[in-house]
Amino acid sequence: MIVMKFGGTSVADSEAIARTISIIGGRLDRKPIVVVSALSKVTDLLYKIADSASEGDRKAADEYIETLQSRHITLAEELLEGNPMLEEARTKVADICSELKNFVGAVCALGELTDRSKARIISRGEWLSSTVICYAMNSRGIITNFIDARKMIITSDNHMKGEPDKAEIMKRVPEAVSAAFSGADAVITQGFISSTVKGEPTVLGRGGSDYSASLIGMAVDAESIEIWTDVDGVRTADPRIVPCTKNISRISFEEAAEMAHFGAKVLHPMTIEPAVMKNIPVYVLNSMNPGGEGTAILHSDKIEDGVKSVSYKENILLMNIFSTRMINVSGFLQRVFAAFSEHKVSVDLISTSEANISLTMDGNQDIDAVVGELSKFADVDVDRDKAQISVIGKNIVNLRGLLKQTMSSLKDCNVYMISQGASFVNISFVVDRSSMKDAVREVHRYLFENKDYESGDQRIR
Ligand code: ADP
Ligand code: ASP
Ligand code: MG
Repeated sequence: MIVMKFGGTSVADSEAIARTISIIGGRLDRKPIVVVSALSKVTDLLYKIADSASEGDRKAADEYIETLQSRHITLAEELLEGNPMLEEARTKVADICSELKNFVGAVCALGELTDRSKARIISRGEWLSSTVICYAMNSRGIITNFIDARKMIITSDNHMKGEPDKAEIMKRVPEAVSAAFSGADAVITQGFISSTVKGEPTVLGRGGSDYSASLIGMAVDAESIEIWTDVDGVRTADPRIVPCTKNISRISFEEAAEMAHFGAKVLHPMTIEPAVMKNIPVYVLNSMNPGGEGTAILHSDKIEDGVKSVSYKENILLMNIFSTRMINVSGFLQRVFAAFSEHKVSVDLISTSEANISLTMDGNQDIDAVVGELSKFADVDVDRDKAQISVIGKNIVNLRGLLKQTMSSLKDCNVYMISQGASFVNISFVVDRSSMKDAVREVHRYLFENKDYESGDQRIR
């Protein structure tokens, strides 16, 4: 069995879906479990619907739902033209949208949008895409059964970012998948969407379809997990901001996880963890170039040392905690981390000196409570205009001179913090957000375009 996940651009319109279906058709001998995202930009549209609902703006919400419905109806018409299944598909799309409209109407009337209701709204994108694509696959002769991901992917009740209950998932996925495979060539399910054990709607966080795919792969002991997207694999940097990136043909689980955690949008940060548990190779492939080599994400033993990539996080918070009480006092750090843990704020980088701790964290987190707690025993200062750049590669500690040379490529900007991960996979820098893009390009130019350094035990010139 293999898991094939197709992201928003791979299912953006009828042309992309036809291409996607032909890729799936080429893998039927490997029993594909197809995991799909919402059509490109649909989740953003659903967020707008949720926002309008929370503001009680029913008119705006209804207009957005109209756009949502007509996009999916057009899609069904294009994919199923002349096919008797078209009418059924059209009715299903209309039913899903009218149920959404009723629900949004109720939220507007109530004047309050809980995270639970928001998750219910946001999850409609994958439900719609998987419904239409399932018909399209069947209409093209691939006998495909539909699985409701919410019955298999069970999470905590953090509705907008559910934490998967792996034991429950390991139990439910194989049962659902083997039932759905009876008499079928392929099965299809939704990425991103999930539910609590009580059946309340949850989602796995933005970009979470990758995570769904790897959780399913883990649960069925898949032969491989394929992440089909719009680039030729994992690249040496984000191609949207760096012009001359190169494809990476092989990368380790640790490197890929580190890249994703430190900003590379190509994979959801949690994607690698379930794959590692079962040592399942993950391939990142381009649905617009299916013959391309892509990137294989494999066990570290199969991967050579050296710098693989530069990633960045644009939206971070840099917190400085000062206290003279820290000097020679044991238990200070414990008190600091207890505050983070209690308020569920996770930290990316940390560096300490005698009377100061610097930390970075994802800028989307609400840190008010942590700052309140820390301020009881220290001075806290939060910078919101910084960004983080990470150089990632296996055993980069062996690249003597890397730090010096990377720093020299950062000569035109202030560096507020440096952190070399204990894993030897990551060296990160904090710079001003305004100079981040130039800095990423500079670091990339030095590491991948100049070729004036050597990997392994070599000294960098
Ligand atoms: P999907 O909708 O298929 O999940 P995403 O937009 O989430 O696709 O992820 C693919 C995008 O990730 C690419 O189009 C690219 O712009 C971006 N990206 C960021 N960093 C990298 C990287 N190092 N390698 C490849 N793509 C990257
Ligand atoms: N549709 C969801 C999002 O846009 C999940 C995903 O695409 O992975 O975030
Ligand atoms: Mg994605």
